[in-house]
Amino acid sequence: MNILVIGGGGREHALVWKLKQSARVEKIWCAPGNGGIAEVAECVAVDAGDVAALVALAERIAPDLTVVGPELPLVNGISDAFTERNWAIVGPSRQAAQLEGSKIFSKEFLIRHNIPTAKMYGACDSARDAYAALSSVDWPLVIKADGLCAGKGVVLAPDAETAKQFLESVMERNELGPGGQRVLLEETLEGEELSFIILTDGERYAPMVPTRDHKRVFDGNRGPNTGGMGAYSSDELLPAGLRDTVISAIVEPTLRGLAADGIPYQGFLYVGLMLTKNGPRVLEFNCRLGDPEAQAIVARMDFNLSEILADVAARRLDPAKLRWKSGASVCVVLTSGGYPEKFETGKRIEGLTSIDRETGVKVFHAGTKSERDSLVTSGGRVLGVTVAADSLETAVALVYQSAERIHFDGMHYRKDIGAQAGRVKAAGD
Ligand code: AMP
Repeated sequence: MNILVIGGGGREHALVWKLKQSARVEKIWCAPGNGGIAEVAECVAVDAGDVAALVALAERIAPDLTVVGPELPLVNGISDAFTERNWAIVGPSRQAAQLEGSKIFSKEFLIRHNIPTAKMYGACDSARDAYAALSSVDWPLVIKADGLCAGKGVVLAPDAETAKQFLESVMERNELGPGGQRVLLEETLEGEELSFIILTDGERYAPMVPTRDHKRVFDGNRGPNTGGMGAYSSDELLPAGLRDTVISAIVEPTLRGLAADGIPYQGFLYVGLMLTKNGPRVLEFNCRLGDPEAQAIVARMDFNLSEILADVAARRLDPAKLRWKSGASVCVVLTSGGYPEKFETGKRIEGLTSIDRETGVKVFHAGTKSERDSLVTSGGRVLGVTVAADSLETAVALVYQSAERIHFDGMHYRKDIGAQAGRVKAAGD
């Protein structure tokens, strides 16, 4: 089997690494890939959001299966373009990807199908309407830019002043681009957050192991939001009773609702939940695996990923085939100094070779590239040190021992990934 993987971050490196373990996988291409992926796959310099260029690439290389990592190609319709040509692909259609591509679409879907979520105060397409709507909301208020905004589209506004500043910047000054032209105003929920991710062929589904990610840049959930500073997975995150509730009140109604709306969904579906004192509520949908949740999930996979994904593309998923390693896993992201604000790249990375030889530890690359004979940083999130072990404590200890051996100028990482004790609750984490 020859596979094309689309994307170039830590999530895609984890997918490529796992796919490559299958005896029947001969070749993997990755568009665009990165410095780490290049060691196991052929990287092709095609932009992940450029559907026409990806179609041209697939025409040339004729992969047996295409796996899409990020949301942009999905929202741009890659799945439709490949399916029209009868090419096997894992990832939802452009319409189904609206669950992530439009917060208002997703909220209206949740309301239509009675799926528990934060109360909507309004959906506004002009700054004027949005300012007017502020007079009839409760504070603090959550405001969400409707479209894709690279993680910057949500604000938790304690008062009208902060709300107005955000609305001004996204709706009047267009600081987030077209994604900010419409906004959703909703109730603020309190509780712990949990990611629940499933893989579905539109009819059958299999849950991934539960994960929690850490979005703030500093320990104790302080500092600005990032793409993700780390994630961990442990079965204890989701007690059986809660798991049943999430499945019966959220996951199954979502799949039924999509089918009823005539939007068959195929691929990974990420459900971001707030565990409130009144039960789990949907915060958001993503139409793909999270990054770095994917790294923690892949580390616990005990099945043949290429076979399962080929089954999904052929609409014949057998959930019983997905087996998981017991215990836990952790992924700690090493970032460039200054990220998520300004940072420098081109820093030489040292210490990786000795770690790669260690069993149970895998370093997934996110922002790296090869330069002459060495590996250098090329992005904000650089590496994801990932470990699966019998217990969360062991996984955390080993992941930090390994992270300490890696070095590049300005390197930063959180020291409290997976450390639930002393956890400080904060929105955005
Ligand atoms: P979203 O992209 O919709 O998941 O929002 C990003 C982050 O904002 C979430 O991970 C939460 O931490 C926070 N958030 C979103 N919606 C709410 C809400 N209704 N109440 C509290 N926090 C929220």
